[in-house]
Parts: sequence; C-alpha cells; structure tokens
Amino acid sequence: MGRDDYKGYRDPCLALMKRHGVRVWSEVIARTTGGTFEGLILPRSETADAQHIALKLSSGYNIGLRADTIVELVETGWREAVYRIPEKEFPRDPAKPRVKLFGTGGTIASRLDYRTGAVIPAFSPGELYGSVPELADICNLDTEKLFGVFSENMGPEQYIELAQAVGQAIRDGYDGIVIGHGTDTMHHTAAALSFMVRRPPVPIVMVGSQRSSDRPSSDAAQNLISAAWAAAHGEIAEVLVCMFGPTSDRYNLLHRGTRVRKMHSSYRSTFRTLGDVPLAMVERGAITPIKRDFARRRDDREVEIAAVFDERVTILYYYPNMQPDIIDALVERGYRGIVIAGTGLGHVNRKVYPALERAREAGVQCYMTLQTLWGYVQMYVYETGREILELGVVPLANMLPEVAYVKLGWALGMHPDDPDAVRALMTTSIAGEMTEREPHDGYLVFQGGVPELDALLRHLWK
Ligand code: ASP
Repeated sequence: MGRDDYKGYRDPCLALMKRHGVRVWSEVIARTTGGTFEGLILPRSETADAQHIALKLSSGYNIGLRADTIVELVETGWREAVYRIPEKEFPRDPAKPRVKLFGTGGTIASRLDYRTGAVIPAFSPGELYGSVPELADICNLDTEKLFGVFSENMGPEQYIELAQAVGQAIRDGYDGIVIGHGTDTMHHTAAALSFMVRRPPVPIVMVGSQRSSDRPSSDAAQNLISAAWAAAHGEIAEVLVCMFGPTSDRYNLLHRGTRVRKMHSSYRSTFRTLGDVPLAMVERGAITPIKRDFARRRDDREVEIAAVFDERVTILYYYPNMQPDIIDALVERGYRGIVIAGTGLGHVNRKVYPALERAREAGVQCYMTLQTLWGYVQMYVYETGREILELGVVPLANMLPEVAYVKLGWALGMHPDDPDAVRALMTTSIAGEMTEREPHDGYLVFQGGVPELDALLRHLWK
C-alpha cells in the first residue's frame, strides 16, 4: 500500500485502519458502539485531530467516527473520488503591481474539501484566484511552492533557500513578496530573513493562518488579502508578519520581523509585537502606519543576500536549580554559541557559573536574553548580574530569545573565524532587533486589543 492510502491519518486511527485492512477511499461497513454505518473513508486533514475516522455516508453527509467507539470495519469496495479546486485564469492587469507568493507549507497551504474530504493545496495563481478572487483586484500574482512542511520542520537549510529565492524575485523585478508559512515558527523565519536579506527595496510579507480555509472562522483569506496589499501597495520595505490584529476580523497588523512572536496557541490574533508597537494596520486595503521609522520602498532592485547559518547554536532556557553539566554537555558536543533566556533582568543561578567559565575558555560565546520577553537585560543592577557579566556573558538589551538564537547562528556563519566580529555584530542592532527604549504604551495598546477593551467597558458601564 502506498503512502497516500492512509492520507492524513495518525494513530490511533491509523493502527485501527491497518488492523481492519481498510484505507482511504475504502467503502466500509463500520460497526460502532453507537450503531452501524455504511460509507466511504475520506482522507483526513493533517491538521485535524487524530481521534476520528471521517466517513462519507451515502446520504452525502460526512461523519466522524471516534476510534475508541469502533468495533469493526469491513471493506466492501474501494472508490477514489478526485476533486480539484476549479482553476480560474488569474486576470492580468499591466497597471497593477507584480507580487510573488512563495509557499513553504503550514495550515495556510492546505484546505480540506468537505464534499470529498480531500486535502487539497490551494496554490497555483488560478487555484488561489478560484478561492480568493479579491487577490486579482490587488496585484498580478505569481506563485512558487518552495516547500510543503509544517513550520516546525523549517530550519537553516530552508531559511537559506528561501532567502536566495527572495533575492532572485527582487532581482526579477517583483514589487512585493508574500511568503505563506506555518504560524508556529513564523517568527524564527521572519528573523532569519531579516538578517539574511539585507536592505530589501520592496516589502517581504510573511503570512499564515491559524484556522484552515475549510473552517467558517478561517483567517486564511483575510490574512492573504492583507498580506498581498502590504506587498503590492505598502511602503514598508522590510520583513513583516501580517496576521489578525484583534480577535475579530476587523483588521490585520504588520509586525516587524525581528520584534514579533506567536503568543497564543489557537487565537487568530496570536502574533504580537513585543517591546514596541506594531508597524502598521491593514484594513480593507488601507494601510495605516502606527510607527514612522521604517525602511521605505525603493525603485532600485539592489539587495544583498547573506544566506549563511552555523547550526551549532542553541537556546538555554534557564530554570531554578539548573545544573552546570547541561552547559558542559553543550560545550563538549561542539556548540559554538549559547543564547541564555534568563530570569528577571538576566540571571542564572550560581551553580552554573563554573560551567559558564569553562564555556568561555572553550571559545563558546554566551549571550543573555530574557524570559520576560518585555523589558531589557540589566545586569548591573544586582551583584549576581555583574558576576555573570564577568564570566563573559554578553547582554543583548531587548532582543527576543528566538531572534538572538537565529541572529547568533547567522553571525557565526558570517564570521566563522572571528569571535570579535561575531560579538560586534550581535551587539549592534541591524534590523530593529534591539531598540533604545520601549514605548510606554507598547505593552498595552496598539496590539489589536482596543476593540475588546471598548466592548468590555461598554458592558461594565451599561
Ligand atoms: N502547525 C502549523 C505550522 O506551523 C500551524 C499553522 O500553520 O498555523 O505549520
């Protein structure tokens, strides 16, 4: 049997299907503790839960059979249903900007069709136009699928290929770039591109979706439309993340690639700018800047691609009672850089000091960032902070831990034999990853929370 025979199914359903000798597109009689059903086993979306087998009944209804209720599955036939998104020709308009959409995978790249249950990628311009016709009002779109992975499988190899592809698209004359990406690690890739694509002349807008487009509450279409707007018509020529602002579908926010982070596992408004306010709002085609200091769109097509990464870097998330052998093990395994996510203003316990000393002697660079995510590393406040500084741990102001991790891999790749140059690069802000101060209101407002706050106040005072 081929790989697709169980498309999308994982254990316990996968084991159950194998045990009963049935697969996707098997016509079955299913005996369950809740009754007997006859129907066709449908493919399952990889993003759907693992507990149910999807069955299309002869009435046309789809039902989910919970694995632990299934007593027996008997195959009576096999019938593959083929379904494709209707391809409509993407209308070209020479007066509109040209946008290149790169696909890397994630929820935004998959769509479950309820008529057949097939998981189908909506990807060619024609397919995208078929499902999101508004795109044609915004730009001329070309698409290229680079990868088809969930974002936990993105890594340095993909960052490098993506950065090079972005460089090529810029040189090919595109007016903006959109990158479809899984949301889970979108902020890592955004940071990687922020460092690898130097001074881009056009917007590079990353976009994903928290809910796939087969669900009524999907954010996929609005995110894609807003991202296409920002890429085609926006003035901000930086690496951006474009996702829901408030929990409602009122507008999207554009976040700077080095200051953004996924902050909620399921909310659509999961991305937040940390340590600052977002760069802009996108609302039905209008882009309203929130900040003024950003790199502006240029007419030239000059860009430098610095696509390098030394993989021997890690993040060490400090917890009380951490033992020094953790750090020793990293040094022994040949790691060259450690980003510590410390407590409070940048602390770790005394127990690990000797190991930090040994790391320094072995030439392993250690940097300090914060678990609090908001605020600055300030190691001069307490004596313990000063002691850690003396062990050679370098504070990174308000750089986010994941951003520091990505930057360190990149900096070590840029200067493999020059530790001083790596340190100089790490302690200089080159893509907004460290800022001089936090805006007093950044933590509380302009993060898409205002409409909810308004609603709450109205409710309280009514
Ligand atoms: N797990 C998925 C991913 O990051 C979630 C998503 O696409 O939003 O690839």
